[in-house]
Amino acid sequence: MSTLNAGYDVHVIQQDQSSPYHSIMSFEELNLHEDILKGLYSKKFDRPSKIQEHALPLLLKNPPQHLIGQAQSGTGKTAAFCLAILSRLNFDDPDCQAIILSPTRELTQQTVDVMKELARYTKATIAPVVYQSDRCYSRVDGQIVIGTPGTVGRLIKIRQLNVAKVRMLILDEADSMLDMQNLGQMSVQIKRLIPNAAQLVLFSATYPARFKRYIEQFLGNAPRNEIRLLKVEELSIRTIRQFYIDCEDEEDRFSLLSDLYKVMTISKSIIFVHAREVADKITARLIGAGHYVSLLHGGLSPDERDKCMDDFRSTRTKVLVATNVLARGIDIYDVNMVVNYDLPTTLSSPERKKVADHEVYLHRIGRTGRFGRRGVAINFVHSLEAYEILRTIQNHYMCDILKISTDWTNLEGKTENEKKETRLDNIEAFIKKTLKGV
Ligand code: ADP
Ligand code: MG
Repeated sequence: MSTLNAGYDVHVIQQDQSSPYHSIMSFEELNLHEDILKGLYSKKFDRPSKIQEHALPLLLKNPPQHLIGQAQSGTGKTAAFCLAILSRLNFDDPDCQAIILSPTRELTQQTVDVMKELARYTKATIAPVVYQSDRCYSRVDGQIVIGTPGTVGRLIKIRQLNVAKVRMLILDEADSMLDMQNLGQMSVQIKRLIPNAAQLVLFSATYPARFKRYIEQFLGNAPRNEIRLLKVEELSIRTIRQFYIDCEDEEDRFSLLSDLYKVMTISKSIIFVHAREVADKITARLIGAGHYVSLLHGGLSPDERDKCMDDFRSTRTKVLVATNVLARGIDIYDVNMVVNYDLPTTLSSPERKKVADHEVYLHRIGRTGRFGRRGVAINFVHSLEAYEILRTIQNHYMCDILKISTDWTNLEGKTENEKKETRLDNIEAFIKKTLKGV
C-alpha cells in the first residue's frame, strides 16, 4: 500500500495470522526501564504489538536515526513512540526534550492521556499544548510537549516554549501533518526551530504518493540510506467488516440513518459526513427525532469540542456525528460501528475533479476494529456517483465491501411502513451477527 520506496533503510515486517496483534517477545526483552514497564503493566499491555516490537529497537539505537513508521490503524503506534521518548528522556533535566505533534486537539488530548499513563511511575513531566480561546499563552514547562503544530509553533516563536534541548520530534499521522497546507508549513517551521541534530520520527497508517516530496523536504539533508523506513504489513484478514447499503434518495438516506440509531447504540458509533453544514443539519434532525447524539467539527469552540469528546468517551452519548477532523487517530475501544453517511472525497490535482479519498476512508473506518477487536463499517450509497466512489475504494484496497441485502422478496402486499421495518430488521440482524462473529 505504501508508495514510499527504495533509498531508505527499509525494514518490512509481516504481521501474520497466527499472532496478528501481539509479538512473541515480551516488553522486558526490549530492555525498557523498570519504571516504564510498570506503566505498561498498569495499562494491561502484557506484550508488545508488532510495530512496538520493531520500532523500539530502531528508535533507541545510537546514534539516533530518523524513522518513518507505517502500520495499520489500531495497532499501537502511540505507545511505540511514547515508550521511545520515555526511554531517551533525561529525567534530571526539566527542559523540553521531546515534542509530539498531532493534527487535532482531540488526538493531542488522547496522546497526552496515553503518555501520562505510561509515564506514571517515572519522573517525566508532560505539557499538553492546544489552542484555548480564553487563555493567553503562558509559559510551557514540561520535558515532553504534546500539541498541535499551530499552537506549538506560536509558543516557540513568542519564547514561551524553549526548544534548545529538544532531541526528538514526532509527527503522528505524519502524512496529514505534512500534506495539509497550514499544518505542513507549521511542522516544517517547528523542525527548523529545534536543534539540527534532533531525531525525527514519523508515524502513520498511510503514506500516499504525493506525500513523498513533503517527507524529503521535512527530513532535510539526512542521507536517505540513514533514514529508516519501517513497515508492518498486515497479512491477516482485517477485523473490520465493510458493507454498503443502497438508499433510494437523499430523504431515504436520512431516514435510514435515523432508523439505524438503535443498532448504532448497541455499542458506540461514529457517523462521518463531508462538511460542517451537513453535520449540523443531520445532528439537528437526529435530535429532532428524539435521539441522543454528539456533534464534532472544526467550527465549534474548543470548549464545545472538549465537551463533545467527554460526553462520547464517558458514554453520555453513544452516537457521534463528525467531519474528517475526527477521522484520524481517535481510539475509543467500544466504537464498533462507523457509518460513512457521505463517502470521503477529495479534489484531484490538477483537474480538480471529485474523486475518492482512499486515505481518509481507511482512517475513518479505522476508528473501529482497534487492536484486533471487531468492527463494522457501513457506507451509505444514495447516488450513482457515490456508488462509483465506493467501487474505486474497493478496487484500490482490493477488499470486499459487501452489500447488505435489503431483501424485497416476500414483501408484496405490505405497506410502506412494514417494508421499512422489514428492511431494518434485516440490517439489524445482519450487523448483530457480524459483530458477534457468527
Ligand atoms: P494506532 O496509533 O496504531 O492507530 P493506538 O496507539 O491508538 O493505535 O492503539 C490502539 C489500541 O491498542 C489502544 O486502545 C491501545 O491501548 C491498544 N494497545 C496498544 N498497544 C498495546 C499492547 N501492547 N497490548 C495491548 N493493547 C495495546
Ligand atoms: Mg495513532
